[in-house]
Amino acid sequence: MEKADFYDFFRKIPKAELHLHIEAVISFDSINKFYMRKFPGIGKDEAAREIKKLFTYDNLDGFIQAYLQIQEMYESVADFDLIFSDLKDYIVRNGISYVEVFAAPSAFVKKGFDFSAMVESYSRNVRKVKEETGVDVRILIDVSRTFGAENAEKNLQLLLANRIPEIIGIGLGGSESKGPCRDFGAVFEKARDNGLFTVAHAGEDVDAFSIWDAIDILKVSRVGHGVTAFQDEALMKELVRRGIALESCPMSNVFTKRYVKSLSEHPLRKFFDEGIMVTLNTDDPLFFGVELVDEYWNAYSQMGFSAAELKEIVKNSFRASFLDEGRKARFCAAVDEAWG
Ligand SMILES: [Zn+2]
Repeated sequence: MEKADFYDFFRKIPKAELHLHIEAVISFDSINKFYMRKFPGIGKDEAAREIKKLFTYDNLDGFIQAYLQIQEMYESVADFDLIFSDLKDYIVRNGISYVEVFAAPSAFVKKGFDFSAMVESYSRNVRKVKEETGVDVRILIDVSRTFGAENAEKNLQLLLANRIPEIIGIGLGGSESKGPCRDFGAVFEKARDNGLFTVAHAGEDVDAFSIWDAIDILKVSRVGHGVTAFQDEALMKELVRRGIALESCPMSNVFTKRYVKSLSEHPLRKFFDEGIMVTLNTDDPLFFGVELVDEYWNAYSQMGFSAAELKEIVKNSFRASFLDEGRKARFCAAVDEAWG
């Protein structure tokens, strides 16, 4: 398939995305607005130059710092409306049918934003996206390794005190090298006891032991990235045996250069061949300059996947989601039908 035909075709295929950070679906336009508001009087070109400097990181921690700097530009909960509007445009551009998105409240709570107001905004904006596109958005709250276990516990307590159906679980993101899974076991157990789904970034920036910790200590349903599973045959077999899906984000891994320097080196192909339930995701579209259909094209053109294999990965995006079994089956049938 030629590139243009591939994009036309894949935009029409129903797809889910399961590893996407809402603060990273923000558009350059929105960042520009924030920046010019923060520095009144600055010209548009100068603002664009300054913003460009934010995007010069070359490892995971540098990226996290840039991410936090952009979060610093938010002035109030009302700014979330803009982000959800950018998310809606992203969903439409990529033909996405269902999305589970991370929202990271820690930096905003530290700035003094009211958590209840944030939750109200999430709920209202999720309903607005549904009305305008027909697409369900579900939220996983990132309890964050970066800010430590006490902060994670606080996020969970805020979440439990402000339950809404649109928030379905928690995820562990942030700096993997600074916040080991063992620090967060109690928080994850409490989340599960309260009926929340759990996922964790693991094996993105440290070795395979971190993935073992995520599945054994945190008992997560899915692993974000899981790149370093390639180091450990027993771990790969265990992921298959337990049916734990990997939320693969190849471009993100190439960008942060920790274990893979190019798409052709990425272990996604190996994981698929081992029988692990892999899914394709973008992680942070704005930061890595990649959208969901691009990730499928990259897998097709640079990572040795056939169209038929990508169809399985598309179906995996629904199978590995937190949708109920009936909806998973209906979405998979819709994939077959759209495939023709
Ligand atoms: Zn992520």
